[in-house]
Amino acid sequence: MNEDFMSFVWRYQYFSSVSLRSETGETLQILRTGHRNTDAGPDFSEARILLDGMEWAGSVELHVKSSDWEGHHHPTDPAYEGVILHVVWEDDRPVRRRDNTFVPTLVLNSRVPEGVRSRYEQLMGKDKAIPCSAQFQDIARLSKITMLDRVLLERLDTRAERIRQLWESNNRDWEETAYQWLGQHFGFRLNTPAFLRLSQLVPLKTIQKHRTSLPQIEALLFGTSGLIPTDSPDSYVQHLQKEYAFLARKYGLEDRQMGGHEWKFLRLRPAGFPTVRLAQWAVLLQQQSGLFASLTSMESAADLSRMFRVTQSDYWQKHYQFGKEAAAKVPTLGKDAAELLIINAAVPLMVAVARLRDQPQYLDRAIRWLEQLPAEKNQITRSWAQLGMRVHTAFDSQALLEWQGRYCAQKRCLECTVGAALVRPA
Ligand code: SF4
Repeated sequence: MNEDFMSFVWRYQYFSSVSLRSETGETLQILRTGHRNTDAGPDFSEARILLDGMEWAGSVELHVKSSDWEGHHHPTDPAYEGVILHVVWEDDRPVRRRDNTFVPTLVLNSRVPEGVRSRYEQLMGKDKAIPCSAQFQDIARLSKITMLDRVLLERLDTRAERIRQLWESNNRDWEETAYQWLGQHFGFRLNTPAFLRLSQLVPLKTIQKHRTSLPQIEALLFGTSGLIPTDSPDSYVQHLQKEYAFLARKYGLEDRQMGGHEWKFLRLRPAGFPTVRLAQWAVLLQQQSGLFASLTSMESAADLSRMFRVTQSDYWQKHYQFGKEAAAKVPTLGKDAAELLIINAAVPLMVAVARLRDQPQYLDRAIRWLEQLPAEKNQITRSWAQLGMRVHTAFDSQALLEWQGRYCAQKRCLECTVGAALVRPA
């Protein structure tokens, strides 16, 4: 038994209320279960009960054993003085509030239908990516669609919150925020921290002063990244070193150089090396005078994809790393990479704009972009497809990845519409 299950049972009142009485014999009627509280304090607030005919309003606290009340130090905590009912699975000790009065106790153990408990335990006992897969088809489509919409919004809002924090740290400057947010996504997961650090070390305003010169933008980025070799006979390397030395002095960047060890090359295909991605990032920065303005003006995912699919400078079309000529032409930023940038960077940025400026049209646009892109294909999305879920667009795949990662994998089945439908009384 655990408090998640008890909370579920209490919230939906999945227990017998026939001849309901507290452990001290008072007649009990639940008028309102209250609102679930996810912060500190009692589990449900604004509940209402009738106890021996007298109405009480206040909080409800749930515990597996009534002695947990003391174990959790509630007798001395003023936040628990307003508890009107203690709901437990097992009553092993009467409990008192801070003012020494007894807290009425309701024991659920024998009142919960056996089927509810056994279906829950069955679900929790399965060790699969999607534990309910055997019963998933039995659940109505509406429950699944409701869940899909909900988890997608949760995913987007979680990312929008990260953008809000970045925006606050940049004094609410949208251009600088878009530069840092998009910049970190050029790290394509493995190099995300390094790209973020780099974009925080080289301010956008410095880059913008050199917009007319791609070699100077490359010098600023590669120089600060710490990736330029110190003793190379390569003329491009020597030119970058010279440019960077001049610009670093001019903008006081000498003390801000990163260590080459911060960049990851292992387990990456050469086309995804951070050197190649940095060269592509430099081109995008040169082409777009205002990234934020460009992103917010794009209507379709196809327009965005065109914007992201940049061709790096000549040198980086022939090299994956400094000083080592490639056997064949180095690919430009491809369709798949551009789609990842749209999904992971551009879409959440639009959601953040929608939330922070209270302009829902940007949320609609973000959703539209997801619907215009193909679904991501991986083991998780394939598992959902086998269960009959539609996995056509990035809207579908993003929602399903969130659903599996944040609910199924963490066994939060009771908070999922499918799990709630599976466990509830027949
Ligand atoms: S979270 Fe929902 S879909 Fe996932 S395993 Fe649990 S009940 Fe099934």
